[in-house]
Amino acid sequence: MAQIINHSFDTIPKSYLFSEVARRVAAFRAAHPEKRLIPMGIGDVTRPLRRPVIEALKKAAEEQTHAESFHGYGPEQGYDFLREAVLGHYAGFGVHLEKEDVFISDGAKSDLGNLPDLFSGDCVVLLPDPVYPVYRDSNLMAGRRVTYLAATRANSFAPLPDEALHADLVYLCSPANPTGAAYSKEQLKVWVDWALANDAVILYDAAYECFIQNDLPHSIYEVEGAKECAIEVCSLSKTAGFTGMRCGYTVVPHGLVREGQNLHDLWLRRQCTKMNGVAYPIQRAAEAVFTPEGMAACREDIAAYLRAAAIVADALDELGIWYCGGKNSPYIWMECPRGLDSWQFFDALLENAGIIGTPGSGFGENGEGYFRLSAFSGEENARAAMERLRAWLQS
Ligand code: PLP
Repeated sequence: MAQIINHSFDTIPKSYLFSEVARRVAAFRAAHPEKRLIPMGIGDVTRPLRRPVIEALKKAAEEQTHAESFHGYGPEQGYDFLREAVLGHYAGFGVHLEKEDVFISDGAKSDLGNLPDLFSGDCVVLLPDPVYPVYRDSNLMAGRRVTYLAATRANSFAPLPDEALHADLVYLCSPANPTGAAYSKEQLKVWVDWALANDAVILYDAAYECFIQNDLPHSIYEVEGAKECAIEVCSLSKTAGFTGMRCGYTVVPHGLVREGQNLHDLWLRRQCTKMNGVAYPIQRAAEAVFTPEGMAACREDIAAYLRAAAIVADALDELGIWYCGGKNSPYIWMECPRGLDSWQFFDALLENAGIIGTPGSGFGENGEGYFRLSAFSGEENARAAMERLRAWLQS
């Protein structure tokens, strides 16, 4: 009998990581109701939206109540005012894009999950391991073959291709979730050169670019040749606390052509068929992020998260624990002390210090023996958590 269900879903790992974290935390709470636990595992922002953003949102919402300023369906790629603001943001890092290249989205996750629609079922997908699981699961769902490139301490969790490497589609994320590792411009150039030589396409996830504090690249388009081989996905979720607002942007340059097909045109066709845009008030709020006042306010929040990351990093330095990330990223990726594996450390940390983190093995095989702490929990929590960690490990 013909199958009517997409059985590729059977190949996706069960959403084990966060449900298992929740299960173990619930069991611990039930056994120790008196203990205050410190959440250091969260991937969501905790600081509220800023005033310029909310004022723009309120104004746009009010416009929707008047016939003369009402907005129904918006332009397919997003309103010009927001796409121009995005162009201005890129110009700030010396990247010059065409307005037509920018697509407004409801966030990075949807686009990262939907972009594989442009590629055939036969194409070979390459992912770093450990990795943000959305890249893996969205390709497995479509029945594609996924291969992995080891991200390890030896390559500072920022792996590079060698000549023998073959793949058609590669996902890169910098600064990365979960490791916080970030590529330099020279390293990104190695990827761009490899992609051009192999007719591969890079899907570049820049969701954490706003955390970059030094001269590391904010965009893959800072590298020459990237417009011929890379699609870039970005989001206001972490830049401006938009996780609950939902707005992002994806760049598909006109110069990106494979097998005679312009990927920009394919993406436009795909989006016009399956998406009807982002709400007008949300796009106005997003526009406000890119104003000088909006960006200054958002940068204060990012600075506060980075101060929390520095509190964690200082404690790990003092304890002699290896880690990466935390400097241009809200995530600190630490080696589990005392030779513990990721889940053993999760349990020990919960039991001895009342801290909830995220086991590295949940992000891929090479995450085993590592652990992710998040600065989104804020300075106060970071300070309290590190006091407890010191007290436990130095006892
Ligand atoms: N990409 C990475 C690497 C992420 O960690 C996340 C969210 O945590 C996203 C994309 C999703 O972002 P958005 O909220 O824009 O969908």
